Amino acid sequence: YRSKAKGRGVYTIFNPEMSESHKRKIMIANSIEAAIENNQFCLYYQPKINQQGEIDSLEALIRWFHPELGAVMPSEFILVAEQAGKITAITQWVLNQASKELAELIDIYSPKIRVAINLSVHDLRHSDLFDWIYNAFKSYGVNPENVEFEVTESAYLDNFSSSENLFKRLHNLGCTIALDDFGTGYSSLSYLTQITIDTLKIDRQFVMELDTSERCRVVTISIIDLAKRLSLKICAEGVETHSQWEYLNSLGCDTVQGYLFSKPRQLADIKAQPHCHRQAS
Ligand code: C2E
Ligand code: MG
Ligand code: MG
Ligand code: MG
Repeated sequence: YRSKAKGRGVYTIFNPEMSESHKRKIMIANSIEAAIENNQFCLYYQPKINQQGEIDSLEALIRWFHPELGAVMPSEFILVAEQAGKITAITQWVLNQASKELAELIDIYSPKIRVAINLSVHDLRHSDLFDWIYNAFKSYGVNPENVEFEVTESAYLDNFSSSENLFKRLHNLGCTIALDDFGTGYSSLSYLTQITIDTLKIDRQFVMELDTSERCRVVTISIIDLAKRLSLKICAEGVETHSQWEYLNSLGCDTVQGYLFSKPRQLADIKAQPHCHRQAS
C-alpha cells in the first residue's frame, strides 16, 4: 500500500513485508536477555593466517540459535541490539565467553595464540568498558597479550577521546588493537597519525574485486603501503580465492582471513580439526 504524499514529495511506503521485518526486529530485541540466560549464544572462531601459512590468531564471531527464528546472524541482531540499547549485555557475554574459551585455544594451538574480540560503537561510550574487560581477564586468568580488540574506524572516531583512553590502557596491558573494515568509512586519514592501533584490516569489499578490478588493486596496494609506512600490521578480510591470497602475499600482507582457509567454526569442530587445509586453486 502506498500512502498519499506527506508534504512535498515525501512518500511513506507501507507493505506487509515491512511490518513483518519490524515484528522480527522487536522479537529479536525482546529475546536478547533470555538468549543470554538460556545459552542460545555461542562463539565461532575464524583463523587469521600468517605468511608462513600458520594460524596467527582467531576472530571470535558470535552466533545465535534462536528457538523459533533459527540461526540469526550478527549482521542482523548486533544492529538491533545497538538500537535497543542491549549491546552491552551481549558484549559482556562475549568478553566472558572468549576469556573462558581462550584456555582451550591455547591448549589446541600454542601459548601465543590470540583471540580477536569485536567491540561495538556503543560499547565505547561506556566508561566501565575497561573494567568489564579487566574483570573478565581476571576471572578467567587471561593474559592480555593473548587478546586483540577489533573496532571499526567510525566507532573509534565517533568516540575519539574515550576510544583513545581505552585503547591506550588496553595496549599498556599488552592487548593489541585492530581497525576493522578499514577503507569503508568516510573519515579523513589524518586520525591515523594519532590513534593507538596495531593492525589495519582491509575490508572484504576490496579483496572481493582484486581479481577483476585494477582500481581495487591500486587501492589495496596503497592501503598496504600506508600501513607499512606507519609500522602497522595489515590483515585482509574475506579471502576466498587462491589468486587473491597470492596477490596479497606478494604485497606483503601480514595475515589473511577468509573462506579459502576456513569459515568461522565452533570450538568443538576446531578442537577436532585444528588446522585448516587450504583449498587447491
Ligand atoms: P566483521 O568483524 O568484519 O567480521 C567479518 C565477517 O565476514 C564475519 O561475518 C565473517 O563470517 C565474514 N567472512 C569471513 N570470511 C569471509 C569470506 O571469505 N567471505 C564472506 N562472504 N564472508 C566472510 P559474521 O560472523 O556474520 O559477522 C558480521 C559482523 O557482525 C562482523 O563483521 C562484526 O561487525 C559483527 N560481529 C560479529 N560478532 C560480533 C561480536 O561478538 N560482537 C560485536 N560487537 N560484533 C560482532
Ligand atoms: Mg571483526
Ligand atoms: Mg571486519
Ligand atoms: Mg567486515
